[in-house]
Amino acid sequence: MFPLFRIFDPRMCGAITQSLGLNTKVFSDNILAAVQGDTDSHNNLGALQANNPKVFIQGQPAIAAIKDTASPDVIGMIVHQTGLPIPAKGSQKVFIGNGGSGGGALGLGMLSGNMQVGELLQVGQQIIGQVSSIANLGGGGGSMQMNNMQGQPPQVGQTAVGQNTGATFTFTGYIDSRQLYPPTANAFAYPAASSVTTAILTDDGDYIVTDSFYEYPSQNLTASLVTT
Ligand SMILES: [Zn+2]
Repeated sequence: MFPLFRIFDPRMCGAITQSLGLNTKVFSDNILAAVQGDTDSHNNLGALQANNPKVFIQGQPAIAAIKDTASPDVIGMIVHQTGLPIPAKGSQKVFIGNGGSGGGALGLGMLSGNMQVGELLQVGQQIIGQVSSIANLGGGGGSMQMNNMQGQPPQVGQTAVGQNTGATFTFTGYIDSRQLYPPTANAFAYPAASSVTTAILTDDGDYIVTDSFYEYPSQNLTASLVTT
């Protein structure tokens, strides 16, 4: 699962997300959920793009931080190309997306070689995950989205090597959708569904369709679990 992305939540380039007024009713911790199309503070660009969305808010795809993407934006004269304005951090209480596909992660760092989508990443002898998107930012910099994460998250300064191409990515920043759970377990995983005390699920345990809450003036999700 991935954090539900909201207005004011950050993009990986440092921009802050802003509302176009498409969602007026669904909140998490009193903050409006962001939806597809919402832009950011870097010149009102960086429209959010959902990836195979299954959770909708007022008819618009909800955004999963770390997993979903965004259009380029511009700060001053500097273009932040696709891969940089990615939704980076969201709600710590409301999660959406499929837990079965493995954790996701975002990395910023130094890229060397022609890293390919789909290849496995190794740090030392350990496979840590798989490349789901890669962007060359110029000047040796890169940003990467990963999925199917396993084991301990890489540390800043560590280098991941692509198994197919031998391309390398040295992390200068890293965000993981997994949490240390339970806190004493020293294992990175998703919070167990049984630990969520105020879950909103469909009858078949599948996913929430927030359109069904249209009759309420608003929904303020403070401890909810939304799965696809
Ligand atoms: Zn930006």
